Amino acid sequence: MNLPHSHNIVTVDLAALAANFRLLQKRAGKNVQLMAMVKADAYGHGMLEVAQALAVEGCCHFAVAELVEGVCLRQAGIKGQILVQLGCELSDIQFLFDYDLTPVVVSQVMLRLLSRAAVDNGLVLDVHLKVDCGMGRLGVSPHEIDEYVNLFSDLPGVRLSGVMSHFPRADDPHSNQSREQFQEFRTVCQQVQKDHDAICHIANSGGLLYFTETCGDLARPGISLYGYYPGGVQAFEQVPEDRLTPAMRLETQVVQVKAVAAGTGISYGHTFVTSRPTRIAVLPIGYSNGYLRRLAGQAQVLISGQRVPIVGRICMNLCMVDITDCPDVAIGDTVVVMGRQGDEFISADEIASWMESISYEVLCLFGNNNERRYLNRLDEKE
Ligand SMILES: *Cc1c(COP(=O)(O)O)cnc(C)c1O
Repeated sequence: MNLPHSHNIVTVDLAALAANFRLLQKRAGKNVQLMAMVKADAYGHGMLEVAQALAVEGCCHFAVAELVEGVCLRQAGIKGQILVQLGCELSDIQFLFDYDLTPVVVSQVMLRLLSRAAVDNGLVLDVHLKVDCGMGRLGVSPHEIDEYVNLFSDLPGVRLSGVMSHFPRADDPHSNQSREQFQEFRTVCQQVQKDHDAICHIANSGGLLYFTETCGDLARPGISLYGYYPGGVQAFEQVPEDRLTPAMRLETQVVQVKAVAAGTGISYGHTFVTSRPTRIAVLPIGYSNGYLRRLAGQAQVLISGQRVPIVGRICMNLCMVDITDCPDVAIGDTVVVMGRQGDEFISADEIASWMESISYEVLCLFGNNNERRYLNRLDEKE
């Protein structure tokens, strides 16, 4: 059905995404496979569109959080390996076989259930084992590795084809923790590889960019694919053409312009009161669009190529900006919430700093709460 468009449009440039993929592949080296992290609807960029664009670039490993995401990728025709990081409910095990998905296992109970289901299906299921080498999150302890190695050898229907771990501090190039953790992971991998033909992977974007030697067989970039550096800054020298390009942009538009007198309260609670005769532009974007309330008093947007401040509380679908210094603003003008306009640029990192968060959260909030459009889609002429 043909539906009207939203005032708020997220634009995802698939060519930027493809270029980032090529840069990361170059940095990792041609012997390293890249597994694209497309969980959370590809960090708000749209899982199916992103996976399709990366598949064209030769990407043949994808990882999602939930089983349902893996099923959607397959239904959209995505080939190659799809790793399901959170395993699945007992009642959903059959999906793994029907859609050829690779589960990550963190318990013996689950492993035994998978083995039984595989035997029932007359199939052998590839499984990756997640080891907690210091992240303090999901994964079995390195002390349990021998038990798992033996269990995989004993159980029919399951093949230990991968061992994985995760870095808690790879976004910090100056911390030694990632190197230490990598040593521990290597020990685990050697233990496994004595008995099983498993690949090893630990590197996220920070690992790939800052500790490239940790890539091993396969690296799992997420945020860098979408054009941002983990930790918020590019922490090493790069020639400009080797820089990642942010793929997402968020625009809204002016729905009303008004002139108010000095001493006028703006928005709920009148937390902002004008101190001079002021021109206010009303924008049709608010916290339901991921433009969070806590951005009030901090955030700026771009109008006519200039930065202007948000004033007063951010509402569910509305917020206000002070445009007294931008005399030409009119109803219908494009407002850039995130992205470039003229010489100015507002990045997800800058917005994240206003809300004491990280670019990841900004991208998820904007991308997953607004209408998305795509640039440079292969199957469409722009
Ligand atoms: C999300 C995720 C990644 C990607 O991390 P980035 O910092 O976005 O590169 C890698 N590995 C695992 C297990 C993840 O959950």
